[in-house]
Amino acid sequence: MLGLMQDFPLLVHTILDHSAANHGERELVTRSVEGPIKRYTLAELRLRALRVAKALDKEGVVMGDRIATMAWNTDRHMEVWYGIMGIGAICHTINPRLFAEQLVYIFNHAEDKILFVDLTFLPIVEALADKLSSVKKYIILTDSDHLPATSLPNAVAYESWLASVDADFAWASFDENTAAGLCYTSGTTGDPKGVLYSHRSNVLHGLLSNQPDVFGLKSNDVVLPIVPMFHANAWALAFAAPAAGACMVMPGAGMDGKSIYELLQSEKITMSAAVPTVWLGLLEYLQENNLDLPYLKRVAIGGAACPRVMMETLENDFAVEVIHAWGMTEMSPIGTTGKLKFSSAQLPPADRINLKLKQGRTPYLVEMKIVDDEGNELPHDGATSGHLLVRGPCVSRAYFKHDGNILEKDNWFDTGDIANIDELGYMQITDRDKDVIKSGGEWISSIEIENTAIGCEGIAEAAVIGIAHPKWTERPLLIVVRKTGSTVSTEEILTYLNGKIANWWMPEAIEFVDEIPHTATGKIRKTKLRETFGGYKF
Ligand code: ADP
Repeated sequence: MLGLMQDFPLLVHTILDHSAANHGERELVTRSVEGPIKRYTLAELRLRALRVAKALDKEGVVMGDRIATMAWNTDRHMEVWYGIMGIGAICHTINPRLFAEQLVYIFNHAEDKILFVDLTFLPIVEALADKLSSVKKYIILTDSDHLPATSLPNAVAYESWLASVDADFAWASFDENTAAGLCYTSGTTGDPKGVLYSHRSNVLHGLLSNQPDVFGLKSNDVVLPIVPMFHANAWALAFAAPAAGACMVMPGAGMDGKSIYELLQSEKITMSAAVPTVWLGLLEYLQENNLDLPYLKRVAIGGAACPRVMMETLENDFAVEVIHAWGMTEMSPIGTTGKLKFSSAQLPPADRINLKLKQGRTPYLVEMKIVDDEGNELPHDGATSGHLLVRGPCVSRAYFKHDGNILEKDNWFDTGDIANIDELGYMQITDRDKDVIKSGGEWISSIEIENTAIGCEGIAEAAVIGIAHPKWTERPLLIVVRKTGSTVSTEEILTYLNGKIANWWMPEAIEFVDEIPHTATGKIRKTKLRETFGGYKF
């Protein structure tokens, strides 16, 4: 027998309807790409998003079309985001930090019809435009006064484009399982994979991430999402903040310590979220200038492990609570937080910090377990490590236009992380199965560097591992076996790699060894190399 409750589809634009009706006076503030700080209300956000929806409809955009954005966190990005999703089209957020080849692959794989692009990224797009076969129109996120000359075909200033329509438009209505967002992850081997969020998964994830032991946003919060909207929904904040009626402050292109500090102070930010590298920049700025943080109450730190000293400094010296968060693009992305629970709040301070530094426990709607190589579940003893598997309504079941099952038995998704789980349910990552390195919150493919390096005269074998780095969390170390008789040097290898891989992928250092360890199946034994170079300092 079915229940007799209403079939009210979980569609993301209902979030804007709710925020406009109940928190319409709350503000969305932006450090604009053109420079000045701009502000308007959540009620206006909804009206401008409706105009985007109407203008896209007029362009002939239909349900399921992919419409791309390459943009900072700004008011305009929010308008476009909701406007695209509100007519059943798919908002494809593109990470501008990827390098040219990956960008071309992603645009063409997604078959994006229109691109909304920030002024900052125009040169990147101009250089690629002749390879972007599906893009028919470029909408530059600025007004006509700031529109530079561009070689892009069919380019128009966003404000002029928007001026042609009013807000007299109704959101489309459709099945809640309709695709809403597309975000490619390069945190896997091979080509980037498209994670396709649905309206239902985004609404549920907005609620999931706003449980009190996750971000716990309230209508009196002022939220600064530093984590980009092109990184898995700005960790849910683009949905959770308007749903809660919190003010949003968008940092635009200003990610440095000074710019972030200015917003924290002038807008009296209470909550923010970013990767460790950003917080490091802020802490340096605060310490150099002897500043404090009177308004900021809590920050989410994730995407990479939060260093102990960062948590201790923020909590002890600045009275800012740190929420250590773990997750991944395929999880929308929130998976766990290190929030203390009742039984742990009584622990002595040192034990509390130890617990909070773990990647943490799952909120409702995320399930996780650890298994051995044969898939047998491992005990939660805080010591035994295994493959970390997850499942839930906001976890991917397939990649966009990609054949093949990505799930294990009973819908478990293998995160590629190796972790233990303790008796209280706190998970701690101990290693990584996937062959990638995370530097400043972005992925570097170790395999790509290895394959390129092997082309260098004099190299017999090459392996790349991530080494802890104080600023970037991890940086690549290239380990090389020379061919017999070769004297190939660090400089020669770096010169060879230069231009063949992205600048920021260049190895931080190169070490020469006689032999690289292998597994029984002939693969490079990365775990052994990570052990050997465990205490390596650049
Ligand atoms: P995001 O955009 O949220 O960083 P990605 O899919 O790019 O998501 O990266 C997810 C991966 O990043 C995880 O599988 C894990 O390896 C790493 N990661 C994320 N958060 C943490 C954390 N708090 N501690 C350690 N590693 C983390």
